[in-house]
Amino acid sequence: MKRREEMTLVERLYVVEILKGFCITFGNLVRNFVTFLMLTVGLKKRNEADWAATIEYPDEWMPYSPGYRGRHRLTLDESGAIKCTSCFLCATACPAKCIYIEPAEHDDPNIEKFPHRYEIDTLLCIYCGYCVEACPVDAIRMDTGIHPEIYPPDPRAFIEDKETLMKRSRILEDKGPEALFREHLERMRAIEKRPFDHSTDAPQL
Ligand code: SF4
Ligand code: SF4
Repeated sequence: MKRREEMTLVERLYVVEILKGFCITFGNLVRNFVTFLMLTVGLKKRNEADWAATIEYPDEWMPYSPGYRGRHRLTLDESGAIKCTSCFLCATACPAKCIYIEPAEHDDPNIEKFPHRYEIDTLLCIYCGYCVEACPVDAIRMDTGIHPEIYPPDPRAFIEDKETLMKRSRILEDKGPEALFREHLERMRAIEKRPFDHSTDAPQL
């Protein structure tokens, strides 16, 4: 791109440009305020409102794009068993080194190994998706559409274990992505009400 080297006299005075900037900002403020009022009194619907970007999250939420990298889940086979074979490729590919796997022998002689323990420390995770790319058997995905909750101030609460990661797959399969997101919001609301209460009744999602 070729830049214009010279500024005009008016531009060099700055005052006019500053006033133009103020007008744009104030114009956006007024438009958003009017749109917000129209949304509040029901004169406009959310999908018709081009301007007001603010939503009352988490009471209101915009659907994320299908490509959004949400929280992880461990996928299951037809019998509901974990697909992961404990090959460690995800843990090796992880740049944050936040995947911990403890393999174990499987009772079924046709299956070599399975993860006795599989944990992701989501406080360290950078949600890059390398683990998903590295998995040769499609055992880990980030298609849940949910993001981390506002956890109580205990770093251990960010560690997601095998059960939690498998449970997301079950909910997604049985009830669909909307149900998973709804339950995620309910848990967030429960945590917001009692942020320092570690014994929150809301299930871990
Ligand atoms: S998303 Fe990236 S940082 Fe997070 S667990 Fe997977 S590989 Fe590691
Ligand atoms: S999730 Fe995939 S890559 Fe990671 S250990 Fe299991 S099978 Fe291997």
